Formats: sequence, C-alpha cells, structure tokens
Amino acid sequence: MLGEEEKKYMINTYGRQAGITPVFVRGSGTRVFDSAGKEYLDFVGGLAVNALGHCHPAVVKAACGQLEKLIHTSNLYYTEPQVDLARCLVEHTPADRVFFCNSGAEANEAAIKIARKYAKQHEGSQGYEIITAYHSFHGRTMATLTATGQEKFHKGYEPLVPGFRYAVFNDLDSFRSMLSKNTCAVMLEPVQGEGGVHVAGAEFVRGLRQLCDDNGLLLIFDEVQCGLGRTGKLLAADHYGIAADIFTLAKALGGGLPIGAMLCTEKVAEAFSPGDHASTFGGNPVACAAAVAVLREVLQKGFLAETEEKGRYFKEGLLALQVSFPGLVKDVRGLGLILGMELAGDGQLVQRHCTERGLLINCIAGRIIRFLPPLNVKREEIDSALAILEESLEQLCRGGS
Ligand SMILES: *Cc1c(COP(=O)(O)O)cnc(C)c1O
Repeated sequence: MLGEEEKKYMINTYGRQAGITPVFVRGSGTRVFDSAGKEYLDFVGGLAVNALGHCHPAVVKAACGQLEKLIHTSNLYYTEPQVDLARCLVEHTPADRVFFCNSGAEANEAAIKIARKYAKQHEGSQGYEIITAYHSFHGRTMATLTATGQEKFHKGYEPLVPGFRYAVFNDLDSFRSMLSKNTCAVMLEPVQGEGGVHVAGAEFVRGLRQLCDDNGLLLIFDEVQCGLGRTGKLLAADHYGIAADIFTLAKALGGGLPIGAMLCTEKVAEAFSPGDHASTFGGNPVACAAAVAVLREVLQKGFLAETEEKGRYFKEGLLALQVSFPGLVKDVRGLGLILGMELAGDGQLVQRHCTERGLLINCIAGRIIRFLPPLNVKREEIDSALAILEESLEQLCRGGS
C-alpha cells in the first residue's frame, strides 16, 4: 500500500519491491519493527549509519536537548556544538582542521576541491588529476560519481568531470603507472564498501603513502563507510599505521542525523580562505550535538576493542558457514564489523529469505552479502543472525525460492 503511494509521488530511484519491502516504524538497539509489529535484527545498520543501533539514548538526549535550544543559525555565526565536535575530532585523529557538510558525497567533494586548490598554491605543482581505485565508491554528485571507479554510476551522466583516473585496488604499480605531471592526489577507501567489501593490504597502503610523499601528492582517505569505529579502530587508517593528508567522514558520524566532515592537516587546510567553500546546513547544531554524543560513546574505554572482538567472532561464524556450504560460499572477508560474504548463488534470494525470517542484510552486485551491524551489537544477536543466515543458505542449496 505505502509502496504504491510512494511510487505515485516519488521519483523511482530506489530498487524496492512492493509487498516485500518492510515499512519500518520504530527501532531500538539492533532491532527494528515494521508497521505490522514484526521484529527484525538489523545487520544493515542504515548502511553503516546506525553505528550505535537505533535510537541510542545518548544520541536521542543530545539531539533533543539541542532541538529545544537552537536548531539553526547559518555559518555567519558561531555555535557551540560545531566547535565541540571539531575539537573532539581533531583531538582524536591525526587531523588538524575540519570542514562540516551534510553527507559523504559533500565531504568528498570538499576533499577534491581542497586538493586541487592546494596543488595550485604550491610551487612546482599545477596538478588537478586525482587517481582513484576501480570498484571504489565516493558518492553521487558529478565530481564524486566521476571519482567513483565503476562505470555503472557514470552511464548517462556524461560528460563527466575531467581530471580523474582509475587504478587497480591493492596494486601499487597500477597506481604508479597512472601518475602524470597533472596528478595532485590519490583517493582511496581503505576498505571498499559499496564495491564489494575489499580490504586494502598493509603493504599497498604504506606504498601509496610513500608514492604520494615521493611525488608531492596528497593522500585522501574516504572513510565515510569504514571510519568511526566500523573496522574496530576509530579510523581504518589506524590499522596501517599511517595518516592521510585529507580524510572524510559521514555515515555513522551523526548517529542517524545527516552530517559529513572533511578533515585535513594544517598545511592542507591553509589552501582554503573565507569564501572558498561553504555549506548552508554544514555543522548544523543538532547534527553536531548528536555527533559529539556518538564520538563520546565510540571513544569510551574498551568500546573499539569490543567492536574488533565482535567483528572477529562474527567473521569466524561466517567462515564456519563457508565450511558448511563450500559450493555456495565463495569468500568471507572484511575488517571489524564491515564484513562481506561472496556467494556463488543468488544473493538477492538469500537477502529475501533472511528478511522473511527477521534478519536484515544487504546484497550488493547480486551475489555479495554485506553486513554492517551496529558496533555495539550483542554476541547473542550475532548468533541469531548466523542461525537465520544458515537456514537461508540451506534453503538456497535445496533450490527453494
Ligand atoms: C556512502 C558513501 C559515500 C557517499 O555518502 P552519501 O552520504 O550517500 O553522499 C561516499 N563514500 C563512501 C565510501 C561511501 O560508502
């Protein structure tokens, strides 16, 4: 019913199936409830947004408290939550400065803009080209969809934004071969999310850092999906013991409220002067207050270690399923609580079976199941999810639809 209404009034950009797609009305922790009162375990996590689960009390309190005080002023003025959030981010990451916006694409757009501006201000560099990886995903604006190394996102939108080249993920030589006198930066997701859950190798990432240093290029990490504790460390970069010059956050940052951030070193930050970039809503007090609450939770002693531990526990469970279904499960991969299971069979069908049994999972590219549960998911919830997944894989093996 609601699906038909939606079809009538909204532009058809989301691949939903009427009659099967739930209508969600309420959520709490890892659980979400549809309009018929049916309960689901949410292992999609709002696509890596609900890092603390649904309606986390600290996030609700921070957002509601701010809603009652001040909702918006514009960036002509100072607001406290914005500076609180910036301070918190700078104190806990390698970044010196922050720019706030409202989404991942906007954060990457800001990263692209500052990288180009930086290159023009530094002697001996007229670079504007940015090298990104195949199978990457950086957003849907014209520049970020061009940065995205997947043709399916480009089709129909040509002419694309000039100045992007693509190289093979986890292949340093491929990146090196794409360098030209016009290169200004390399942009990478340390863990590719949308592109199929691919983790960058340590040698590759350290090699990229060196390649950038040797050639006067900026290294940009898109941590929109893999940042903010998702991999068991605050930043995915922390796994590699290196820091990017610029990195972006969004998805999990606002605990469900829209906010993005582009963070960089002091030296890079100097490339922007007043008037060079802006956002009307960027750094909105309500979103910033919620984000401060998210960061406080994630930074609590032991929280990230727990996330890492639960990620390992979940991955072991998925690997056990690979042993049980060797013909069906081709690969299990990921880091922390961004995990993927590549199937030889129809992933959409597994997704549907799981949904019917009360488990939300996300299928990408038709045969990769992506798991993005809340970082504070409970072990027994992981057990329940694995049991439902096992039943669904059995059903697929029996050829049930
Ligand atoms: C989701 C995502 C984006 C785009 O974020 P939006 O908020 O949808 O604009 C960019 N980069 C990565 C790695 C993402 O996963």
